[in-house]
Amino acid sequence: MPDHNQTAPGELEAVRRFINTWSIPNDTRKATDALPELARAPGRWNTEFPRQPRSRADSLDRLQRLRADLRSACDGEPSGDEALNKWFSSAALGVKARWEGGTTKLVVESSEASFVGYIVAVVANAIAAGDWPRLKTCPDCQWAFYDHTRNGKKRWCGMTKGGPGGRACGTIAKVTAYRAREAMKTGVA
Ligand SMILES: [Zn+2]
Repeated sequence: MPDHNQTAPGELEAVRRFINTWSIPNDTRKATDALPELARAPGRWNTEFPRQPRSRADSLDRLQRLRADLRSACDGEPSGDEALNKWFSSAALGVKARWEGGTTKLVVESSEASFVGYIVAVVANAIAAGDWPRLKTCPDCQWAFYDHTRNGKKRWCGMTKGGPGGRACGTIAKVTAYRAREAMKTGVA
């Protein structure tokens, strides 16, 4: 796992971790799904997601569908919003006024006491706070990361060629862009 700061702020980190239960590890480069095993072991689940245990409403199939939809929503596809809206309805989200830090804040909550309800409410609150667009998936290795850059334009995860088995995400695109710039300078296509 990358040790760069890719951690999302506050509870959005649980969403990032949830998305990354499906990953393509560096060493094997084979898509791996950690959810079935996590779902079988409540102890491990609670270590990974301490804020919300798995409930009866969180079938493995429902969790996997939510994760797939969150992935496409992170990729910035317009269809991602449609999928999110379906989850917002299914998890019965509502709003509550809450006194926090000396003022009244509006928070989104799910009336469903489930992991799905929890995650979906965190996503809704992150959209309202403007943090959601910074949760991204790397176009090369698919790893979900939080973009901490000032302009929010980061595209690839922070993985570099450095360590053993390290990746060089974005390298091909960067080399192509570099060559295109050089070709423009010299007039050679
Ligand atoms: Zn990557």
